[in-house]
Amino acid sequence: MASGISSRTKVCGIFGYPLEHTFSPAMHNAAFEAAGLDFVYLPFPVDADRLQQAVAAVKSLGLVGVNVTIPHKEAVLPLLDELSEEARLIGAVNTIVNHSGRLYGENTDGRGFLCSLRKNANFLPSGKTVLLLGAGGAARAVAVELALAGVRKIILANRSKLRAEELAAHLSSRIGTCTEVLAWPEPEGLLPGEALQAADLVVQATSLGMYPGCAQTVPLPFNLFRPGQVACDLVYNPVQTEFLRRAQEAGATAVGGTGMLLYQGALAFELWTGQAAPLEAMEKALVKAVWK
Ligand code: NAP
Repeated sequence: MASGISSRTKVCGIFGYPLEHTFSPAMHNAAFEAAGLDFVYLPFPVDADRLQQAVAAVKSLGLVGVNVTIPHKEAVLPLLDELSEEARLIGAVNTIVNHSGRLYGENTDGRGFLCSLRKNANFLPSGKTVLLLGAGGAARAVAVELALAGVRKIILANRSKLRAEELAAHLSSRIGTCTEVLAWPEPEGLLPGEALQAADLVVQATSLGMYPGCAQTVPLPFNLFRPGQVACDLVYNPVQTEFLRRAQEAGATAVGGTGMLLYQGALAFELWTGQAAPLEAMEKALVKAVWK
C-alpha cells in the first residue's frame, strides 16, 4: 500500500495511547486493498494532553475519519460537532467521521457485538435475559445496545458494585430496561448459580483472561452452563479463552471477541467509505494479526 500512496490517497487512522497492540491497521488496510480503495489507515499514538489538537487535525489535515480507543473514548465527546444517539447513550465514541469539516461521533462497538452474536450464534436479543460480567467501557456499549434491542432483563455483576449500580440506573432511566445488580466475585469467589442458570446469554466483559494475563480465571460455576445458552467473551486476545473453553465444555455455544472487533470495524469502514465492508479479507487479516 505505501508505494501506492499519492496526493489522492484518503487517510483514516486510530487515536489512542499506547497503540503498540492495535490490530485495526492490519484489518482496515486489508479491507481497503480488497475493496480496491485508495485509502490508508494509520496508527496515531496520541496522549491525553494532545487529544484536542489531534481532533482538530482531523479537520485541518482532511482525514476521512478515525477510530478512537483507550483512553480517549469518553474524553473525545465534547470535542465533536455531532453525536449519534448510541454514542450519546453509551457516553463514548469509537469512530469519528469527517463530514466536510463537521466531526460526527459514532459508537460501533455495541452494534458490532450484536452483529457478531447474530452471525456466530444466531442469537437475537429481544425478550432474552442477559448476565453481563463487568461494567467498564465495553460492558457499557454492550449493555446499551442490548437494552435498545429489547432484552427482557440485564443482570449486571461487577467487582465494583457501585459501577454496576450506576450502569443499571442509566439503563433503566434512559431506556426503561429491567435490571438487577450483583456483587461479584462474592467472598467465596463465585456467582449465585440462579443468575447463571436464568441467562440466555452470558457476556464476559471484564479484562480477566486478556493477554498477557491469559491464565487468570473468571470466577464462575462453569458446571452450570448449559446447552441452548450463549457464552460470549469480549476478550479477543487470545482468540480462544479459558472462559470460552469451559463454557463450551458444559454445553453452551461459545462466541469469541474477534467477531465484535471485526463487525465494529466493518461498520466504521462503511461509515467512511459508503461501501459494504469486505468481511472475509478483514477477518483473515485480523485473525492473522491476533495469532502473530
Ligand atoms: P475497562 O473499562 O477498563 O473495564 C474493565 C472491567 O474489568 C471492569 O468491569 C473491571 O471491574 C473488570 N476487572 C478488571 N480486573 C478485574 C479483576 N481482577 N477481577 C474482576 N473484574 C475485573 O475495560 P474495557 O474497555 O471495558 O475492556 C474490557 C475487555 O473487553 C478487555 O479485555 C478488552 O480487550 C475487551 N474489549 C473487546 C472489544 C472487542 O471488540 N471484542 C472491544 C472493547 C473491549 P471494576 O469496575 O471493578 O474495575
